[in-house]
Amino acid sequence: MSDTERSVQIPARIDLHAHSNRSDGTDDPVALVQQAQRAGLDTVALTDHDTFDGLDDAQAAADRTGIRLVPGVEISCRLDGRGVHLLGYFADAGHQPLLDELARVRRGRDGRVPQVVERLRAAGLDITVDDVANCARTASSLGRPHIADALVAKGYVPSRRAAFDRWLAEGRPAYVARYAPSPEQAIALVVAAGGVAVLAHPRGRASRDAVTDTVIARLGAAGLSGIEVDHHDHDPPTRSRLRALAGELGLITTGASDYHGTGKQGHALGSELTAPVEFDRLLAAVPGAERHPDPAHQRPAWREPSP
Ligand code: AMP
Ligand code: FE
Ligand code: FE
Ligand code: ZN
Repeated sequence: MSDTERSVQIPARIDLHAHSNRSDGTDDPVALVQQAQRAGLDTVALTDHDTFDGLDDAQAAADRTGIRLVPGVEISCRLDGRGVHLLGYFADAGHQPLLDELARVRRGRDGRVPQVVERLRAAGLDITVDDVANCARTASSLGRPHIADALVAKGYVPSRRAAFDRWLAEGRPAYVARYAPSPEQAIALVVAAGGVAVLAHPRGRASRDAVTDTVIARLGAAGLSGIEVDHHDHDPPTRSRLRALAGELGLITTGASDYHGTGKQGHALGSELTAPVEFDRLLAAVPGAERHPDPAHQRPAWREPSP
């Protein structure tokens, strides 16, 4: 078999959801792209929580390695009191209304830390805001995982997961809510910024009760292009139901690892993938794609991988 024949038989490996240490992942953006190459990925999306800060470094690394980087962001939203995450791909990272909203979310993230720390201290744990800051030095977007890291560093819990289960998850003693837009607001901003909106892990831990089929249909009507179906948090029956719903609603279905480096077990890069045909639909959903089928024409951050 020639190389050409072999290459057409191997489907592209596309992972559309990963975090760097600009939010709550543990790899810096360059290392993340290198890890993606080691994992045999052709395409990886960097989707840090509420920040674009890692994209330039990741793009530079992607240019060096020949991997295709999809510029992304995962926007924290709230629906019926539950955390719901919206992935935005190819949005213009200079679009001021979107930047303003992300900054507002990050201010809410920063502002909550002293309140969480106060609750932990009231429960007798010797932890300070500085301890948290020490665990978040590389992050533009401060999250509960950084507070979890501080609890691990002090020996109060063995892992991030244990910190969430004992203290930080919704309903636990040190949970404090923060500002978040509605999914509709976030979708409108992503679309206004020339991006494509995909709902992250709709039946995952935090969002499963809020994100009903009716809600997904409503968000589809509000400009949502797709839903993340193949995600670690979804069991096989959930995936089947979501795929059927996406078919009914004409939504794209994606799959992705939600990699956080060593911050989350079971989320290795490439452990979940997006089908190439669904990725093509995502590219076609980029506003203006009918005029410029190759997003390279409109997005400086986009490069075809070198051969
Ligand atoms: P935050 O961004 O502060 O709302 O924290 C949410 C983030 O914490 C998610 O994006 C996950 O990366 C992580 N997370 C949520 N629940 C858990 C859990 N039970 N164990 C470990 N990490 C979690
Ligand atoms: Fe996260
Ligand atoms: Fe998420
Ligand atoms: Zn994520």
